Amino acid sequence: MQEFYREEGEDAIVIQSRKRTAMPELPEVETVRRGLEREIVSSRIIAVKVLRPASVGFPDPKLFTKELKGRTFKAVRRRGKYLLMDFDDGSGMAAHLRMSGRFLILGKCDTEPAHTRIRMELDDGRLLIFDDMRVFGRVWFVPKNSGFDKVIPTLAELGPEPLKGLDSKVLKEKLERKTQPIKSALLDQTIIAGIGNIYADESLHRAGINPLRAAKDLKPKELERLCKEISIVLNNAIASGGSSLRNYTDASGTNGNYQNEALVYGRKGQECRTCAKLIERAKVAGRSTHYCPKCQK
Ligand SMILES: [Zn+2]
Repeated sequence: MQEFYREEGEDAIVIQSRKRTAMPELPEVETVRRGLEREIVSSRIIAVKVLRPASVGFPDPKLFTKELKGRTFKAVRRRGKYLLMDFDDGSGMAAHLRMSGRFLILGKCDTEPAHTRIRMELDDGRLLIFDDMRVFGRVWFVPKNSGFDKVIPTLAELGPEPLKGLDSKVLKEKLERKTQPIKSALLDQTIIAGIGNIYADESLHRAGINPLRAAKDLKPKELERLCKEISIVLNNAIASGGSSLRNYTDASGTNGNYQNEALVYGRKGQECRTCAKLIERAKVAGRSTHYCPKCQK
């Protein structure tokens, strides 16, 4: 588990997965959620500074600064890849990390990261930093009587949470008219929330389903198996820190834990761990898709 790590020579606590290079998926966001929960619940925000207005999703940065000041964190939840932080007065703060967003907790003497976009001073003197090199990430303030869904309408459209017992009957209904390949249906956040490219490939392999099959053609038994495998794959990734997931095209050459465990993802041309047939790669909805032509009919 690597929920936090201390960067060398610094006292900063980085709440993110170690050496993250790929876009965070559900397990990475869940890892961040657990880290934030441990660090910020019961802390009060005493000062806020927005250094990059584009990082604030709602309201305008000036009001955002004013609204957050004085609020106390009560809980940190997750919905799909969104982090939802409740304040004790019924208002809240939400965040989406997108490509490169991350949260850090800094002590008084720590050096701030290069891409601090929002800086919040907590009542115990620590800083909660939202750092985001590429500025695709967003942080929202959610007023007391509005609710997260009103401020972020996409939240209301998200499909069920895969870790809270996916119901294959619900999935069957959602897929009934979907002619698209099952792989691209799994990436659709309105069908299931939080599944990305790697975990979609791994789940389909473990369930013995060819990723190119039309979603609507999957049999109830296959969907039942798929639901089970999705939760196993995601839970395994969370257990290993969700962290060392790397895009297999990453040039640094260090493979993370999950990568080493991957059955198909990033293994084009290598032998299937079950049947020794070579893993194939196809493009589905613009994403690389890995599968075993023999095990996945
Ligand atoms: Zn195989």
